[in-house]
Amino acid sequence: MLNIGCHLSTSKGFTHMGKEALSIDANTFQFFTRNPRGSKAKGIDENDVKGLLKIAEDNHFAPLLGHAPYTLNPASADLRTREFALEVLIDDLVRMEHLPNNLYNFHPGSHVGQGVEKGIELISDALNFILTPKQTTTVLLETMSGKGSEIGSTFQELRQIIDRVELDEKMGVCLDTCHVHDAGYDIVNDLDGVLDEFDRIIGLSRLRAIHLNDSKNIASSRKDRHEKLGEGEIGLRALTDIINHPKLCRLPFYLETPNELPGYGREIKTLRAAFQH
Ligand code: FE
Ligand code: FE
Ligand code: ZN
Repeated sequence: MLNIGCHLSTSKGFTHMGKEALSIDANTFQFFTRNPRGSKAKGIDENDVKGLLKIAEDNHFAPLLGHAPYTLNPASADLRTREFALEVLIDDLVRMEHLPNNLYNFHPGSHVGQGVEKGIELISDALNFILTPKQTTTVLLETMSGKGSEIGSTFQELRQIIDRVELDEKMGVCLDTCHVHDAGYDIVNDLDGVLDEFDRIIGLSRLRAIHLNDSKNIASSRKDRHEKLGEGEIGLRALTDIINHPKLCRLPFYLETPNELPGYGREIKTLRAAFQH
């Protein structure tokens, strides 16, 4: 059984997202915990959450993936920007506990000229501040393309962050296929080599989710522009090799391709047909 879903809009609530997922034969999905640019989150409607939890249980959903606003920067040089990131992350982790035992993904941050070392220190400090022993949510660092001064475009940087986190059992990694391709990992011609490297440096047991995207740009471009599956530089063969790889095939996959719901439905149909396990 392939565990696959896509990014869905949160605007009509949790139950609605569950129904949308079912309508396109998805058995999980990703959602923004609030407006992706940051700002205030709506209150949690317990009945709305219950509706989703029932759908997820009845249909054996894979873990749901909350995504933090992508404008947060816990590695900022500006104290107020770092404090804002902490406030949002803490609030999101409280909200995620309404959906226990799921995943929460965030972009590690950008060092904005302070240097990679300083950035890694600030990100791990933030994680040590926000993680709690009681939380049931696993927090995922997303692999980044390396545009600007982004941290997390190498497996080493992610490992260095996790190494400094005290409650590291709460930590995992979400591998974005567009981002690692744009960062220079050759998932098209040497998937085994990339996974061996991931295993050696981070450990494959940390890999908890895959963002399955094609890329508009060539390898090592450090750009981060997602493309529909099969219409970009990664291509459908490499992407179906990823879902079928014995070390990856049990993970949940989330599409973040430029699609509306019907387009996501078509991609999910293609992937389910190509899944060999
Ligand atoms: Fe992301
Ligand atoms: Fe992503
Ligand atoms: Zn991206």
